[in-house]
Amino acid sequence: MEYRVATTVEEALEALGGRDGSRPVAGGTDLAVVLADGLGAVPPLLVDVAGIPALQGVRRTADGIAIGPATTIAEIATRSDLPACLCQGARAIGSPQIRNLATIGGNVCNASPCGDTLSPLVALEAAFVLASRSGTRTVPAELFFVGPKKTVLGPGELLVEIRIASARLAGRSAFRMIGKRNGQAISQVNAAVWLALEGGVIREARVAVGSVAPVPLRLKGAEALLVGKTVRGLDVEPVLARAAAEIAPISDVRASLEYRRLVTGSLLRDALLEAAGI
Ligand SMILES: Cc1cc2nc3c(=O)[nH]c(=O)nc-3n(C[C@H](O)[C@H](O)[C@H](O)COP(=O)(O)OP(=O)(O)OC[C@H]3O[C@@H](n4cnc5c(N)ncnc54)[C@H](O)[C@@H]3O)c2cc1C
Repeated sequence: MEYRVATTVEEALEALGGRDGSRPVAGGTDLAVVLADGLGAVPPLLVDVAGIPALQGVRRTADGIAIGPATTIAEIATRSDLPACLCQGARAIGSPQIRNLATIGGNVCNASPCGDTLSPLVALEAAFVLASRSGTRTVPAELFFVGPKKTVLGPGELLVEIRIASARLAGRSAFRMIGKRNGQAISQVNAAVWLALEGGVIREARVAVGSVAPVPLRLKGAEALLVGKTVRGLDVEPVLARAAAEIAPISDVRASLEYRRLVTGSLLRDALLEAAGI
């Protein structure tokens, strides 16, 4: 396996498009484990994109915010200009050592259903800009994930930007996860809630959950029940019941189906109340 460090996006795209089976690597906290444990095919070429300046950092744009996919999880976790649910999701990832290496782009492109930035990005209606030698396209977060560890990324394609629109920056949001212990535990379930409030009334709601379906799942039925409700005295029980009907959890090494169903409601309740400010 050859390892090449790219210094520009163009260089990375040339390298990735030039040899079948080539793969990008950023922090390597997912990919190195897969390769070391023999859990996936060894690519003929690994293209390191972590040091490409154009893929790093967070910047304001005319219509929102653009996050470079090589921005570390540690940076996402501590930024005050990003929605709370995304920062909280980032803070839930691994340990300080992992967060210092891991990137948001790696978390997204690894596409694990339990990835802790995925439900926040779906709740925030993020858009992913994908580039290859033949051009760029923009894919909504909701359509990017197609199965466990599967995305719409094609051969030679690189995630080059994550966009969040101004309207989503303006709302209030919260994230909750549960794992087997507090530190360095993968989510058994996670949940992100985003609300737009107007005079104490929920004008718009977006709810997404992770690890309860093959992909991060938006709960449109639960969202519909929230819209138009006054936050003071909000009865969350019908919303939680609707959410329970919308998820499709399975039993695996991390948790049983029954446990996942049960805790999804608790996590959603907490996230909803925090986002609503009650
Ligand atoms: C001990 C440990 C604890 C962890 N805990 C958590 C946790 O609590 N929550 C959680 O969500 N994750 C956790 N992880 C998983 C991992 O750290 C995260 O998913 C991390 O964000 C991956 O980022 P990375 O930069 O290291 O990705 P990499 O390993 O570099 O890449 C991951 C995948 O994304 C692809 N990729 C990377 N960048 C791009 C790009 N720009 N365009 C296209 N494809 C790209 C790679 O080809 C690879 O397939 C943990 C991992 C370890 C080892």
